[in-house]
Amino acid sequence: MPSTSTPPTDTDVVIVGAGPVGLLLAGDLRTHGVRTTVLERLGAPMTESRASTLHARTMTVLEERGIRERLGELPDGGPGHFGGIRLDLTAADPGHRYAGQWKCPQTRLEAVLQERALELGARLRRGLRVVSLTDRDGHVLVEAVREDGERVRVTGAFVVGCDGGDSTVRRLAGFDFAGRAATREMLRADVAGIDVPARRFERHPDGLAVAHRWPDGSTRVMVHVFGADPKERTGPPAFDEVVTAWAKVTGEDIGHGTARWLNAFDDTSRQATRYRKGRVLLAGDAAHVQMPVGGQALNLGLQDAAELGGRLAERVRSPDRDDLLDGYDLVRRPVGAHTLDNIRAQSLLLLGGPEVEQLRDVFGELLGLAPVRRHLARMISGLGRPRSAAAPHDSPATTATTAPTTTTATTATTDRSSTMGRLTDRTALVTGSSRGIGRATAQRLAREGALVIVHYASDQAAADETVALIERDGGRAFPVRARLGAPGDVHELFLGVEQGLKERTGETRLDILVNNAGATTPAGLAPEDVTPEEFDRLFAVNAKAPFFIVQRALPLLSDGGRIINISSGLTRFASPDQVAYAMTKGAIEQLSLHFARHLAPRGITVNSVAPGITDNGSAVFDIPEAVEQMAQLSAFKRVGKAGDVADVVTFLATDEARWITGSFVDASGGTLLG
Ligand code: NAP
Repeated sequence: MPSTSTPPTDTDVVIVGAGPVGLLLAGDLRTHGVRTTVLERLGAPMTESRASTLHARTMTVLEERGIRERLGELPDGGPGHFGGIRLDLTAADPGHRYAGQWKCPQTRLEAVLQERALELGARLRRGLRVVSLTDRDGHVLVEAVREDGERVRVTGAFVVGCDGGDSTVRRLAGFDFAGRAATREMLRADVAGIDVPARRFERHPDGLAVAHRWPDGSTRVMVHVFGADPKERTGPPAFDEVVTAWAKVTGEDIGHGTARWLNAFDDTSRQATRYRKGRVLLAGDAAHVQMPVGGQALNLGLQDAAELGGRLAERVRSPDRDDLLDGYDLVRRPVGAHTLDNIRAQSLLLLGGPEVEQLRDVFGELLGLAPVRRHLARMISGLGRPRSAAAPHDSPATTATTAPTTTTATTATTDRSSTMGRLTDRTALVTGSSRGIGRATAQRLAREGALVIVHYASDQAAADETVALIERDGGRAFPVRARLGAPGDVHELFLGVEQGLKERTGETRLDILVNNAGATTPAGLAPEDVTPEEFDRLFAVNAKAPFFIVQRALPLLSDGGRIINISSGLTRFASPDQVAYAMTKGAIEQLSLHFARHLAPRGITVNSVAPGITDNGSAVFDIPEAVEQMAQLSAFKRVGKAGDVADVVTFLATDEARWITGSFVDASGGTLLG
């Protein structure tokens, strides 16, 4: 694809750094036909594996690109931890195909990502150290020096710094890198010829010790001495330092061993105050440095790259779409800030001395609670959402001035991530939720923690009121308009759904779909009087639209997700003046049945809920005699309230209802039981 920038450039995008982040981005850009050149300082790939853990969201990112398969079988990484306290990451979403954590040496991941990027046509130039960067006249000029001293110049429309925590791109482009200097450090070594017991975050009076035997017989030891200040380092620690620290903490002598690899890491926590400056962007550790705990740094970086690729490709094609790049900053920076916060909390729990013992005890108790486990596991797995998409707490990024006006809706949402509900961090689409049963359902799902999409056809004021009611209760929701039954209805609906989700959560994942919107016939319409137009209208809204909504939602629906279709008690007893309407509801029950089987392999349940006569606020419910008459049909001698049905729908949306699928649930208050 020719570059649209002026003047012509050598390439469209220059990526600095051929680590996992840069290589994933390079491959993604190439899938969009963007000319991509990667500059790497090292002459050959690294042989040491710094990180080896992949989380659920990253696994999905890799799968979507066909990379997962290339990696081959990856061993299950077992349970994870939060600050050294055991945390089973499958709690994030037991139905998720990649729930938990997976082991893949960084060297293997890099090799596969490099192979893919090159196959797709990316240009990789190794042994080049970037020394200058100029962003001027509609292009960037990157100058690098080869090992033999020769200077190389590459021009591009954009440059992306994927060159790690010590990023040259970040420094040359003058990004602010705000945050905290290290207060604690951990020493690591792979040592041959020693025999020490395996230890998983073992706390001793003087420090923390970890020991893990590699298949080759050497042992990875990690040690931290409580209260010891981190050292200013220009290289790895001496083996003597490790030996001394290990002896102080464990009382064991490992001095007779042979160190094969030595390393120190600390709890520095810094983040660029923006991820884009003109034509220069940052991704991965170049944008944020954090203590490498639980593999979050690698996963965060890969997810940055996954977000950036499509946006940058589109921007290269469309010069007036700078908003896409601002959107990258807006989506990923809060995620980074939130992750840095959670890592700082973990660093305190992990490396804090005796003064954190009680805190650890309390934390251990909290981790006994399922919603807490789920919340933290989702955060680590990349399945949760940041505390607030606009203003991360106590973060240098809070002063950002780059938020584009197109996404101001993000800032209007209420922060609920600290509130635990059965549906915390889930997203839900409820069609026809401007009023009636749909509104009550939207409110209840939001009360359980879900971010709710309030869909409506025409009554915007009513939809806004549903959103306002939810936000008043501390929930999160946004409205989307689409008239079902009209041409292009489902497409229009999902444009709004995807855009709204992306702005608020950084992704388009949908967990719960409630097909509630329904058209009804006027009361007293004899079967003889039903016209073909009326028949088609009812089927278009009540049967055809739900089918194609489900079909369109499938790629967005998370494994373990929920589909709930609102039917009617009228499929169980005869009411001739409602025959066409009842036929549509019969159709939606078939939809539930057949899709239940189709989606079971993904852990998605599909059920029908059939309300009886339910007060939806329409005029007839203001007439006492009419209400009295209708009430007689229910075993409880009252008409249903919208909340009666909404509670049933909400239950079906929770994990507790995982064993119910393909079911017809009568929620009619025992209508005509006799
Ligand atoms: P309602 O109060 O009449 O509200 C209908 C909702 O659906 C509104 O949000 C409306 O949006 C939306 N809607 C209607 N036609 C639409 C279209 N063509 N495109 C998009 N949205 C449309 O509904 P309800 O009584 O709560 O009923 C909800 C569901 O329960 C329906 O499927 C209904 O068949 C079923 N049901 C209801 C009862 C009952 O007694 N209420 C009994 C059995 C089954 P606007 O506000 O923008 O028009």
